[in-house]
Amino acid sequence: MPKRPYVIEEMISAKAIAARIEELSREIAEEFEDTDKLVVVGLLRGSFVFIADLVRELDLPIEVDFIEASSYGDSMESSREVRILKDLRGAIEGRDVLVVEDIIDTGHTLNHVTNLLLSREPARLKTIALLNKPSRREVEFVADWIGFEIPDEFVVGYGIDFAQRNRNLPFIGKVSFVE
Ligand code: 5GP
Ligand code: MG
Ligand code: MG
Repeated sequence: MPKRPYVIEEMISAKAIAARIEELSREIAEEFEDTDKLVVVGLLRGSFVFIADLVRELDLPIEVDFIEASSYGDSMESSREVRILKDLRGAIEGRDVLVVEDIIDTGHTLNHVTNLLLSREPARLKTIALLNKPSRREVEFVADWIGFEIPDEFVVGYGIDFAQRNRNLPFIGKVSFVE
């Protein structure tokens, strides 16, 4: 549990997220219109709400799989060293893959995960993140689709936690500590 009291201010409303997902899903459907073997891979745990909303807007034959990588633990700082805690259930060789992430910050997580998945030789690998903090990048990573660019603020909600709390907020909020 977070030790200091904090408040959450809405940054991106549930309505704005839904509208953006509709736009993104049209672009994704166009990219993958020719495929019958798309695997949508969610990065646990932060992407679970985003992937649920995204796949329901995709009128494509898809499978869903998950991979879990360690990142922040319960702190607010990225650990930089990325470990795979839970691997995919299915093979992706020769398949089309869309990796779904909640937020790109330093870039270490997606850089590591996409390199790992590329080593398995998928036919095509694309990435989408709901949020992007470009000012925080430590390794170069450019996603194929981004929901929203945000400033360097610590955010929660819509699947994203602070020390495992607040994942169930329907919007993206900014955390500020109160004294
Ligand atoms: P990266 O490896 O790009 O630094 O960070 C990726 C992960 O760090 C994200 O998937 C997310 O879990 C976590 N993260 C980055 N920024 C934030 C943030 O503002 N709030 C929360 N709760 N997690 C974040
Ligand atoms: Mg994450
Ligand atoms: Mg987290």
